[in-house]
Amino acid sequence: MHELSIATAIVEQAGELAREDGTDAVAAVTVRVGELAGVVPDALTFAFEVARDGTPLASALLVVEQVTAHAYCAPCAEEFAVGMPPFFWCPRCDRPSQDLRSGRELEITAIEPVPAPP
Ligand SMILES: [Zn+2]
Repeated sequence: MHELSIATAIVEQAGELAREDGTDAVAAVTVRVGELAGVVPDALTFAFEVARDGTPLASALLVVEQVTAHAYCAPCAEEFAVGMPPFFWCPRCDRPSQDLRSGRELEITAIEPVPAPP
């Protein structure tokens, strides 16, 4: 289950980002996951709950933002959703396009620190 190694990497990276921000407890981590990144969001959430144990993210929430996969058609100068499973065929001019513009994202976009006690 490769989600566990991804979740472990997210926990490590988020922990480092939090330290750079001067905090050692994280309330929530937001990740962008592309449709074609090969990650199942539910499996990632489950793996995250295993990976966060004993880290500054022990009580952190994982927020998964899914990114729709889009390819670009040069003749139409337009992006189109490739769908799932992906179909690299422009719906406007009926020609193939392999120019993927989004959908492979796998990145941390936000970290919410635990609010400091007053
Ligand atoms: Zn087209």
